[in-house]
Amino acid sequence: MSPFSLDGQTALVTGANTGIGQAIAVAMGQAGAHVICAGRSSCTETVGMIEGAEEMALDFADPMAARDVFADRKVDILVNNAGIIRREDSADFTEADWDDVMDVNLKAVFFTCQAFAKAALPRGAGRIVNIASLLSFQGGIRVPSYTASKHGVAGLTKILANEWAAKGIGVNAIAPGYIATNNTQALRDDPERSQAILDRIPAGRWGDPEDIAQTAVFLAAPAARYIHGAVLNVDGGWLAR
Ligand code: NAP
Repeated sequence: MSPFSLDGQTALVTGANTGIGQAIAVAMGQAGAHVICAGRSSCTETVGMIEGAEEMALDFADPMAARDVFADRKVDILVNNAGIIRREDSADFTEADWDDVMDVNLKAVFFTCQAFAKAALPRGAGRIVNIASLLSFQGGIRVPSYTASKHGVAGLTKILANEWAAKGIGVNAIAPGYIATNNTQALRDDPERSQAILDRIPAGRWGDPEDIAQTAVFLAAPAARYIHGAVLNVDGGWLAR
């Protein structure tokens, strides 16, 4: 079997209804995985794009929402993709905008990894792919809770890799560059910001969700078996600039 194949494996993708999560779910299905499309919004559209896929309601308004998801079924691959962003000057940033983002982007990621590991550690096998950000490395502007949460995702990826690599669970993250999704609509609606971003991207274009999806398949596949604790930039060269 190809080391890039996900044949015979079950993958759960959070936030699979749209954007990067939808593209990852589709790519994992194309690589042979049975895909569980999890979302707070309906994932019917995504399920319709993947043979044999199934839908799961999962809303991280409760960051512990995944506590029982892995107890009664074998899931081999977890992709923590769901995430939100709030934009406001740091001087005016509210507690609600801090807590909402930290709950979905960081607390839910940790406790979903924990729930997955409780089931996967006894089997001695599993792969986790977290979706980090350029703001796991850089500061950004007017997005303090997002930056803090994504720095946290990079740190969590490393500690969980340290604890679980020898036990058969691989934990890695992808740091997407500027990708055209709902998450970046506000930036793309601002002609000056949009052009300034484009001018800095060595590849000369914004990324597509599909640019991230194939990297997620790779990190979930046997081909990546010796990769642990990596936060892989998929950014058209942005961080190299
Ligand atoms: P998106 O289109 O806004 O997708 C975000 C996904 O997260 C949606 O499926 C959304 O569901 C889901 N979500 C939000 N709150 C949730 C909750 N409480 N419970 C469950 N699911 C929830 O943006 P995207 O760009 O595809 O974002 C996917 C991931 O990539 C995020 O972690 C984001 O931070 C990260 N990222 C994106 C970029 C970029 O340039 N686009 C760059 C770096 C990192 P709804 O549709 O119901 O809101």
